[in-house]
Amino acid sequence: MLDQIRIDELRNAPVSPFQHIIDGEKRDSSDGDVLNVISPLNGEVLTTMARGTVEDANAGIAAARRAFDDGRWSDLAPSARKKILMKWAALIEEQALEIAVLGVRNNGTEINMAIKAEPMSAANTIRYYAEAIDKIYGEVASTDPSVLALVHREPVGVVGAIVPWNFPLMIGSWKFAPALAAGNTVVLKPAETASLTLVRLAELALEAGMPPGVFNVVTGKGSVVGEAIGLSMDVDVMVFTGSGFIGRKLLEYSARSNLKRCYLELGGKSPNIVFADVPDLDEAVKVSANGIFRNSGQVCIAGSRLLVERCIHDEFVEKLAAFVETLNPGDPLNIKSTAGAVNSMSQLQQNLGFVEEARDLGRGIRTGGTRILEETGGYFMAPTVITGVHPRDRLATDEVFGPVLAVIPFDTEEEAVEIANGTDFGLSSAVWTSNLSRAHRMIRAIQAGVVHVNTYGGADTTVPLGGVKQSGNGHDKSLHALDKYLELKTAWIKL
Ligand code: NAD
Repeated sequence: MLDQIRIDELRNAPVSPFQHIIDGEKRDSSDGDVLNVISPLNGEVLTTMARGTVEDANAGIAAARRAFDDGRWSDLAPSARKKILMKWAALIEEQALEIAVLGVRNNGTEINMAIKAEPMSAANTIRYYAEAIDKIYGEVASTDPSVLALVHREPVGVVGAIVPWNFPLMIGSWKFAPALAAGNTVVLKPAETASLTLVRLAELALEAGMPPGVFNVVTGKGSVVGEAIGLSMDVDVMVFTGSGFIGRKLLEYSARSNLKRCYLELGGKSPNIVFADVPDLDEAVKVSANGIFRNSGQVCIAGSRLLVERCIHDEFVEKLAAFVETLNPGDPLNIKSTAGAVNSMSQLQQNLGFVEEARDLGRGIRTGGTRILEETGGYFMAPTVITGVHPRDRLATDEVFGPVLAVIPFDTEEEAVEIANGTDFGLSSAVWTSNLSRAHRMIRAIQAGVVHVNTYGGADTTVPLGGVKQSGNGHDKSLHALDKYLELKTAWIKL
């Protein structure tokens, strides 16, 4: 599917200014203001996008409210919604390469990952929920025969969605696809540094026949547009992926407004635990490296803490460093690149700050640790492996969200569990062992939403993704995600 010649044609195509999509129309901001969109590939202005005001956010919310209340979407038969959603997915797939290249120029993900993880994944997610929605039934409760008790499932109303920059289409579609399939309307705010492809998707939704006002995208600053959505009395449910810092703000907004439910998918510091009885050490080395370094480590479930049993630690680290040095981070529009750019200059500086702190503490920078390809003007960082990290170091407890791997040795299974659970997060994890009993013990003991065994990062729309502890609440993906967007209503009928 990936054709380097076509990608090279698209890489320099001019990009017109982007506007909001509100009530089925492209709109400028109410005050005409725009934000420059800087490409992380070269640090240059790619285009501009509307810098949303509170009025714009409210216009998007009002459009979603009207579209929900008049039933233009929620009153359609599920099969009719399904037809439009399926057409939307087909349009996204038809334009997948154009959308993926635009996304890469906007956020820096390597194209061979972006094509699968962004347009193709969004199309797949839309299809999954479109296919599911006419198979969801209500219930008849087993009550006393003198009554008939029914449990209906109804769309909740207006869904506010706020998403991050690492995989805007994949993560965005985990929210809007089940929400829309269930009959809700949506107002979505993308991240400042990855908005363009979500606006493009909203245009395609209209082309597929989605009624105006059902899916609105308002671009701009989180502190303005995001806050307005969070504080709105007209938004019924808030779904968010991003940092814990902003997740807390959303809970506050909810408390200060209408107590809207908030489902938060937050960060992680996921432990990848390798026991000495790992079935295939070379395989574990490669998969562990890919589990942290794809998309330059900007993956919520990245295995950013590598816990290795001490007796194989040196051999493992040796092989890991050798493998990492064969990776080829660089131009994300080159299909041979194994990782692309870091999303922004501030993210790059934050990543390098973690390395400096580890260096000051005397930890070993085994490979990487520096900005690379500076002459391109882009924000690239060498994949970095840091050894001798102490479980209480900031590098072991705080999310870097960059290509930096902290390696920590351990001696016993109990110690591995203690280190693994020793952060505020609980998103993902992995265990490498040939011992089936140990694998099951670890699945029980690790506090995380996902435990991989003898692999890292496998995923599918069919299984839920969510965190425990401060990695969030609620789940994206799978049929379980629909629970967030469908309200239960009891009908109690005396016979
Ligand atoms: P962020 O929290 O800074 O921003 C997320 C979104 O919130 C953006 O759209 C931003 O504009 C918006 N926002 C900012 N200020 C706001 C405010 N005051 N009110 C409302 N909205 C506001 O996160 P980020 O830097 O975009 O993304 C990285 C974070 O996302 C990491 O912590 C990462 O782990 C997390 N993440 C989690 C998952 C998951 O599934 N658990 C997936 C991907 C990323």
